[in-house]
Amino acid sequence: MIKISNVHKTFGTNHVLRGVNLEVRQGEVVVILGPSGSGKSTLLRCINYLEAFDQGQVLIEGKPVGKMIMNDQLKEIPQKELNALRQEVGMVFQSFNLFPHKSVLQNITMAPETLRGMSKEDARKLASDLLRKVGLEEKADSRPSSLSGGQKQRVAIARALAMKPKVMLFDEPTSALDPEKVGEVLQVMRNLAVEGMTMVVVTHEMSFAQEVADRVVIMDEGIIIEEGPPGKIFKEPTQARTKLFLSQIL
Ligand code: ATP
Ligand code: MG
Repeated sequence: MIKISNVHKTFGTNHVLRGVNLEVRQGEVVVILGPSGSGKSTLLRCINYLEAFDQGQVLIEGKPVGKMIMNDQLKEIPQKELNALRQEVGMVFQSFNLFPHKSVLQNITMAPETLRGMSKEDARKLASDLLRKVGLEEKADSRPSSLSGGQKQRVAIARALAMKPKVMLFDEPTSALDPEKVGEVLQVMRNLAVEGMTMVVVTHEMSFAQEVADRVVIMDEGIIIEEGPPGKIFKEPTQARTKLFLSQIL
């Protein structure tokens, strides 16, 4: 489903991604862990080309994202193709980024209406279904500012799902939440995983990683140093740096 090959990214002199290789299969849940600054967010952003990488290739269902290798050279793909690919990838951030002047429902209907040409009526129906799914039917007409953090994040997830993405990327979706609101967001993510959504999740929620991840990937200094099923990574990590990192967070 996703194939990341030898991806490099530099910010000025800061070589942030140093050759990342990662494959994510259809329906798989991959959790990315690693110290602050190891490149987790940058890697996620490379998957939908929110961040332009310098070298390497990202394929989604075999289609190159952002850049493609042609005759041994990296070429930008046409913007139209990039936009189409981006619609296949939903992203949820730590900060919810909802549109403050729109209702909860409008936050969800906007993209399907404008980008997918969905009728107002169909978009409303879809948004209601998604709000039910994340347990927020009764908030359809509310403004985002009147919601709790956990509720905002559930709306953000519903909004991403409205584009019917093939893959969902989550960058620390619960880090900005009060502890008592974390569970409701993780539950929505858990349900998505059970339904078979392909997910790449950066999180420090070890219980989520342990229970939901098919595979845990450890990043350090811009590369993947270790990966495997959560049971294996948490109980028998092979890398000293993984052990050190886990000892600091567990
Ligand atoms: P955290 O756990 O703190 O979120 P992270 O693993 O997500 O960390 P990144 O945000 O990917 O790490 O950052 C990796 C490195 O890239 C850091 O040194 C950061 O300062 C740098 N970096 C990230 N984004 C930019 C940017 N837009 N411009 C310049 N440097 C950046
Ligand atoms: Mg980050």
